[in-house]
Amino acid sequence: MKYTCWGAAKQVTGSMHLLELDNGYTILVDCGIDYEDKTNKEINANFAFDAKDVDVLLLTHAHIDHSGNIPNLVKQGFRGEIICTEPTAYLLEKLWIDSVNIQNNNSKRNKGVRLYGFAEVKKANEQILTYDYYRKFELNDDVSFTLYEAGHIIGAASIRLEIKEGGRTKTIGFTGDLGNPGAKLIVDAKPMPGLDVLVSETTYGNRKHKETRSAEEVLIEQVTNTCINQEGRLIIPAFSVGRTQSVLFTLKKLFTEGKLPPVRVFADSPLALASSNIHNKFVRYLNEEAQEHHREEAGSLFDFKSLHLVEDEEDVEDMELYRESCIIVSSAGMLEGGRIQHHISDHIQNPLCTVLIAGFCSPGTLGAQLLEGKSSIRIKGNDKYVFAKVLQTDVFSAHPDIVGLTDYFEKSDSDHLQKIFFVHGEEEAMYDLRDTLNDSLQPKVIIPGRSEEWVL
Ligand SMILES: [Zn+2]
Repeated sequence: MKYTCWGAAKQVTGSMHLLELDNGYTILVDCGIDYEDKTNKEINANFAFDAKDVDVLLLTHAHIDHSGNIPNLVKQGFRGEIICTEPTAYLLEKLWIDSVNIQNNNSKRNKGVRLYGFAEVKKANEQILTYDYYRKFELNDDVSFTLYEAGHIIGAASIRLEIKEGGRTKTIGFTGDLGNPGAKLIVDAKPMPGLDVLVSETTYGNRKHKETRSAEEVLIEQVTNTCINQEGRLIIPAFSVGRTQSVLFTLKKLFTEGKLPPVRVFADSPLALASSNIHNKFVRYLNEEAQEHHREEAGSLFDFKSLHLVEDEEDVEDMELYRESCIIVSSAGMLEGGRIQHHISDHIQNPLCTVLIAGFCSPGTLGAQLLEGKSSIRIKGNDKYVFAKVLQTDVFSAHPDIVGLTDYFEKSDSDHLQKIFFVHGEEEAMYDLRDTLNDSLQPKVIIPGRSEEWVL
């Protein structure tokens, strides 16, 4: 069989992996939107292979850089099943609709290609089949798969494929995005056993998470400094799915346990609201702490008195008229697009405000510019000076660092394991990570370029 990495090769977004068996059966793992390759405007519009030739799509998780181009694949003739966990399926419906709205807005402003519409989203939804973790399912006589908990976000899966070819069985594992061990709400990743080939994410390949304190301690410090000791606003940019829920869950615990006075919190992202409901619905997919809290709090992980969900125009107005200190949690995480742009634009010149960046920011994004310490930024068509404090924390990180990745590889290593493909990371980080691995693992590492074919 042949493996080709069609996305997230030496970069973080656009995950897409093609497996073509000798008998013609074709498997696609993930089908995400590429946000980084600015040299090719059509990169997301056209696939390098015929969508009609793909027999099945296995999806690791709902994040749009892994799932966002699936309706376009359907538009271009893909008629197979889309296989994922149940929480992923629920999230997809919301994320794809959000993606259509963003594309429509952008295309009106001539800022991007419109990849698909609501009709394709509806069609794609009809092709979804959900499966649970740790049960082996046969796609046909030669191919079976098992989903493993990947951590990262609710419903995220690593995919272990067993493929019979030429009288032998090959086992290939795709990590998808892995979680940071010990993360809020989310279970730890479970490595896949007995692999011949591993295709792994390497987002934080050469970084070590610096924060040694708990999420509670970090938020107590930031809320106290910005909202209690001074009349400021703490702005936390966060992805709607995953990080927003970790932040709200931590704040809820601090307020209900009396560790912080109940500062008003605005959760400004309709998508985050839908995503929070999905976390409550599928609480059995979350970690012990979350399940226990859910039982004790009569079925809600995120509700607390001082939380204001911003759902409609009236809520937006209420939020804008509110003049006291508060916490604003809003998407998107890298500060590119979404409601967060509005908050940054309004408050970046206010020295009493703090922007707490809680995740990875790809080079060139507004988040990365703020972290570089730029003294002015261009936002919503205006130049603004940066007087607000800009801080970063990795305590809510949704990916393992170099220590977590190395540990994962060591647990995945066996006499069988022949190749580890590094994907979903920056090239330099991949080489650094490879160099730190032990003598058994290092020679197995391959860093594939986009479109390079590998015979497995
Ligand atoms: Zn992800």
